[in-house]
Amino acid sequence: MNWIDLRSDTVTQPTPAMREAMARAPVGDDVYGEDPTVNALQQRLADDLGFEAGLFVPSGTQSNLLALIAHCQRGDEYLVGMDAHTYKYEGGGAAVLGSIQPQPIVHAADGTLPLDAVERAIKPIDPHFARSRLLCLENTWHGRPMPLDYLRDARALCDRRGLALHLDGARLYNAAVAQGVPVRDIAGHFDSVSVCLSKGLGAPVGSVLLGTHALIDSARRWRKVTGGGMRQAGILAAAGLHALDHHVTRLADDHARAARLAQALHALSGIAVTSQHSNMVFIEVDGERLDELKQHMDAARIRLSIGTTPAIRLVLHLDVDDDGVQRTIAALQAFARR
Ligand SMILES: *Cc1c(COP(=O)(O)O)cnc(C)c1O
Repeated sequence: MNWIDLRSDTVTQPTPAMREAMARAPVGDDVYGEDPTVNALQQRLADDLGFEAGLFVPSGTQSNLLALIAHCQRGDEYLVGMDAHTYKYEGGGAAVLGSIQPQPIVHAADGTLPLDAVERAIKPIDPHFARSRLLCLENTWHGRPMPLDYLRDARALCDRRGLALHLDGARLYNAAVAQGVPVRDIAGHFDSVSVCLSKGLGAPVGSVLLGTHALIDSARRWRKVTGGGMRQAGILAAAGLHALDHHVTRLADDHARAARLAQALHALSGIAVTSQHSNMVFIEVDGERLDELKQHMDAARIRLSIGTTPAIRLVLHLDVDDDGVQRTIAALQAFARR
């Protein structure tokens, strides 16, 4: 029996067609700006999202880091969610490498940052304070797309208070598909956007940062400084282009499967479904049964990220089909009956 891996949408294997596109890709030295496939990917995303320029980078962490360093100077600060990836899960890179101070904001229940709290956290211009420079949002948030009118209001606040606005859009395409809008309707509110190709889109490696020519020129310099300048990277960019052509509309299948999974789990005792949005389902299991659940799911050849807290995230992606969803439901039903 094959393994079903619901830990993350980063675990996907490149499809045979994607591998073929990678093998065929024309390449050049991208540090010289001469890789035609990288250039095509950057231009494609810039056009789709409505930006002047794009930059292909090895990871979403680096993409966000380059954005923060390009927007902020030493001694500036960025306002960011207390549990946001850019604050909590990127090794403190903005502070470590950019001398940029984070100002964490407590999230509302839906993951948004309450704009009155954001506004209260903006520092007066005074030598006592770091210079508030940038607001950073994350969309989707635990699978949940941010409401479009929230984005509009965040943009208005940034305009009024002179902040730039960055989006960690690791799962921007999930948000757009879930809301039934073109990606540019979301991206258009931001000064810069980071998009992951290696999450739901199913490419093996890479993210793209989008912004103005000036911002991307600065980010390109910092990409080199942080060791992210790759040479014949078109082999990787080709996977991204293939994903944009073939793996966007199918995200709706992942969302439908996540909804079906959540629906089936609602009925089970001992498993509480706490949320389902786009490709993610969150459940909670009695903390004392976590080891038992892990063993039970391992025996069924299903991987879940089971840590030390009762909350468990199940993520649907390219490599989990209807049969995989059925097997997961059956295994969790059997666990609930134990
Ligand atoms: C995965 C992810 C990133 C970037 O992660 P990398 O593993 O560095 O590519 C950034 N933000 C969010 C919300 C993510 O889920």
